[in-house]
Amino acid sequence: MSLISLSPSVLPARPGGSLQRGTYYVQTWGCQMNEEDSEQIALGLESIGFTPATSPREAHLVILNTCSVRKKPEDKAFSFLGELKMIKDARPDLVIGVAGCMAQVRADEIRKRAPHVDFVVGTAQVIRIPALVEEALQTRRFQKRLDLPERKGAIVTDVPQRAVGRQAKLKSFVPIQYGCDKFCTYCIVPATRGRERSRPTEDIVREVRGLVAQGTREITLLGQTVNSYGKGLEEGRVTFAQLLRILSGIPGLQRIRYTSPYPRDFKSDLIEAIRDVEPVMEHCHMPLQAGHDDLLRRMRRVYTVESYATILENLRAAVPDIGLTTDLIVGFPGETDEEFEGTLAAVRRFQFDGAFMFKYSPRPNTPGALMEQVDDKVASARLDELIRVQTEIQIARNEAQVGRTMEVMVEGPSPKNKALLQGYSRDFRMVHFPAREVEPGTLVAIRAVTAHKWGLMGEWE
Ligand code: SF4
Repeated sequence: MSLISLSPSVLPARPGGSLQRGTYYVQTWGCQMNEEDSEQIALGLESIGFTPATSPREAHLVILNTCSVRKKPEDKAFSFLGELKMIKDARPDLVIGVAGCMAQVRADEIRKRAPHVDFVVGTAQVIRIPALVEEALQTRRFQKRLDLPERKGAIVTDVPQRAVGRQAKLKSFVPIQYGCDKFCTYCIVPATRGRERSRPTEDIVREVRGLVAQGTREITLLGQTVNSYGKGLEEGRVTFAQLLRILSGIPGLQRIRYTSPYPRDFKSDLIEAIRDVEPVMEHCHMPLQAGHDDLLRRMRRVYTVESYATILENLRAAVPDIGLTTDLIVGFPGETDEEFEGTLAAVRRFQFDGAFMFKYSPRPNTPGALMEQVDDKVASARLDELIRVQTEIQIARNEAQVGRTMEVMVEGPSPKNKALLQGYSRDFRMVHFPAREVEPGTLVAIRAVTAHKWGLMGEWE
C-alpha cells in the first residue's frame, strides 16, 4: 500500500511551549529485541509530549526501527524511506529518524540514499531519541549517534538506560543481556549490537516487579545468548538459572519464557530450573542452524551435532513434555548436498515442534560474505525441501497432543474468529478453544481435539 495519499498537516503547538508537538509512528522490523526497543522509543517520545498515530500518513514524526539480519528487511526499510520522501516533499515538517541494526552499520549509506532523514541512531542510543527529536525540530540539521560500549579489559558493563513508565501488558519482553561475543560467521549482530553485557540483576527484578504490579503475567527474557547471562557482572554474579529462580519468586508472575539460548552454554543447572521451577515454561527455543559438523565449523558455532543431541536428550529426559523449537539456515557458503542432507537428517532426528527456517543472506563485513556462495536456485530449492520436511514433523507432533489436557493462559479472542479464545500452552503451542467469559491472563485447562500446522484446536476440560 502506498503511503503518499495523505494531506499535508500542521504540527499543533505544544501547550505552554514554543516547540511544536504532534503524533509519532514507529515502524519495526526484526526480532523481539527490536520490538522491545520500539516500546522504549514510544515511551521516550510520549515523555516529550508526542502521542501515537495510527499510520505513518498522519504522523508528524516517523521512526524506522530497522533490522540487518538479512538483506530483505534492509530493502524494505529503504523502500519505506522512499515512500516517506514523497510524504516529506508534500509536508516538509515531517521528522524522520532511523534506528536499529541497519542504522548502526549503514548510517552513511542511509544519509546518502535518503537525505530527507533527520537523524540516525544506533542500538545502544535509543534513550537519546527524544533529544534527537528536539534537536531536529529546532535546527533541522542531520544528526547521528552511533556509540557502542567499548570493551575495557575483559568485560563490558555499560548497558543502555531504560525509559520509565512501561504500560500494563499481559505479556512483556524484558531484555537482560545486550550484544554478543560469539561472532558466528554469518551474523552481523556483534557489529550492530556490540559486545556482550548483562543488566544488573536488581534492575531486572525491579522492572519485572513493576510490570507484574501493572498486570503482566508472562515475561520473556531477551538476550542474544540469553543463557550466558551474568558475564561481566563481577560482584555477586548471578547465573541465568539463578536469575530464573529469583524471578520465579515474584508474586503474580505466572510464566517465564526466554530467548534465545546458545547450545554450548546450556548447562545442567538450567535444565534443573526448567524441571523444578513452576513459572519457568517447558519450552526451549534452541538454535541448531545446521545439521552437519563441517557446516557448523564454518559457521563458527561452537558445538557439534552430537553435543547438541546430548543437550536435547538431557532436556527431554528431565522434562519429557518440553516443546523444542529451533532456527535453521540453508545455503550457507559451500553447503554441499551431503551437508544439506545432514541438516534434513538432524531435523528428522530431533523432531522439533517448530522452526524458523531461512535462506542464508550474506551480510557485509562478516566472514561468510567472503566465502564461496551457494547458487541461489539451489538454496531456494533446499529451503523448500526443509520446510516441507519440518512441516510434516510439526503436524505429526501436534497430532500427538490430541487428547492431552494442557494449561493454557487465555490471551483473548482469536482475531479471525471471535467465537474462539486463544492462548499458549506451557510448551508453547498455540491453542484455540470456544469463547467463555474469562479474564485475559487466566490459566485454564483445555483438552486438545484437533491438530493443525499452527497449533491445536481444543475444548474446555
Ligand atoms: S550467537 Fe551467533 S547468531 Fe547469535 S547473535 Fe551471536 S553471533 Fe549472532
